[in-house]
Amino acid sequence: MSRRLGRRSILKSLGTAAAATTGVAALSGSAAAFTDGERVAATTALNTRKQPGTDQPIVATVNDGEVGEIMNGPIDKGGYRWWGVHWLNRNVWGWSVERYLTSTSGGSGSADLVWPMTGYITSPYGQRSSGFHNGVDIGANGNIGQPIYAAHAGTAYTAYDAGGYGNYVYINHGNGYRTEYGHVNSFAISDGQQVSQGQHIAGMGEDGNATGPHVHFEIQNGSNHYPIPGSDGQNVTAGTAIPRDYNGF
Ligand SMILES: [Zn+2]
Repeated sequence: MSRRLGRRSILKSLGTAAAATTGVAALSGSAAAFTDGERVAATTALNTRKQPGTDQPIVATVNDGEVGEIMNGPIDKGGYRWWGVHWLNRNVWGWSVERYLTSTSGGSGSADLVWPMTGYITSPYGQRSSGFHNGVDIGANGNIGQPIYAAHAGTAYTAYDAGGYGNYVYINHGNGYRTEYGHVNSFAISDGQQVSQGQHIAGMGEDGNATGPHVHFEIQNGSNHYPIPGSDGQNVTAGTAIPRDYNGF
């Protein structure tokens, strides 16, 4: 039958192909909310399903604020747009509805998180002799007052921790994300101030429990600490993106 395809049949099949192509073009033309590998958080207690569709079995109900990684999608089904998400904490895979997902990357055009200070890593994230280090220390040749910048936009607070960080700044970024900047010698923000990414927030110091001037920088999500990449002595530049570690959390 196919080898006797008449002109009329060819036109018909071309027409079908053209329609399909138009459909694809329309879909790709509307900006997708997320990209492959992007970190997202649930904005409510959220079902994640075996396949797209509210009639599909529920694999898990993730918590409000729980973080996942986009692995597939989008697929439009049953009036919803669905994304395949790997829920990192529980290592579960499923499909969830776009409207209950929010990017944790801070929107288009901005890097997720940027290094808060120009200098070099003096103590990386991870196990060390004195215990687990849940952030990175960045030094800058003992240059007290070296500017520390917000790693991401959010609400910044001034704080004091007598036993550890001394004077420090923390910033809430939404979706459970928070960054902290310890041992500062000065504040460049007021308590509760909205800051943009890269805004000057403090000066490097050695306040609290510190063996020398540096900033202790950590990224939290809920009770988890993000494993910040970087090796001892590595140079970092304020405002440049911190590589994302998809094995985190
Ligand atoms: Zn530290």
